[in-house]
Amino acid sequence: MSNIEQTLSIIKPDAMERSLDGEIKLMFEKDGFKIAKEKKIQLAKHEAEQFYKVHETKPFYNDLCEYLSSGPIMVMILEKENAVLSNRKLMGATNPKDAEEGTIRKKFGISIDKNSVHGSDSVDNAKIEINFFFKN
Ligand code: UDP
Ligand code: MG
Repeated sequence: MSNIEQTLSIIKPDAMERSLDGEIKLMFEKDGFKIAKEKKIQLAKHEAEQFYKVHETKPFYNDLCEYLSSGPIMVMILEKENAVLSNRKLMGATNPKDAEEGTIRKKFGISIDKNSVHGSDSVDNAKIEINFFFKN
C-alpha cells in the first residue's frame, strides 16, 4: 500500500553560503523526492527560537537559533513514500563525523552545529513544521 508522506526540509545557512542548494536538491530528486514547495527566506532570531522550541532547555539552543537566523535558508516540502524516515536516512547522523557515506551531512556537513540540513523527525512534527513555514 502506498504511503506518500510530506516532510519539511531546510537547507541551513552553512550550505546556502557555499551555494550547495542546487546539489542538495539534486540529491533529494535522485533519491525519489518531489519538491512540492520551496522558498528562500531568512528567519528573525525570535522565529528560529519558535521553530526550535523543543530544544529550548538544551545548552546549544541559543547558538542554534543565532545560527539558523544568521543567513538565508531554503525551506522545502518534500514528498515521497515514507518521506520522513527516508529523508532522515538521506540526511545522515546529526554529527557529520558519524554520518554514513552517501548522506548529505557526510558530504557537506562541517560540524555538529553546521550540519547543512534540517529534516522533520516524525510525521506529527512534519505537519507542525510544514504549517510553521507554509500556512495557507
Ligand atoms: N545541535 C548542536 N549541538 C548539539 C546537538 C545539536 O548544535 O550537540 C544542533 C544541530 O544543528 C542539529 C540541531 O541542533 O541539527 C537540532 O538537533 P537535533 O538533535 O534535533 O538533530 P537533528 O534532528 O537535526 O539531526
Ligand atoms: Mg531534530
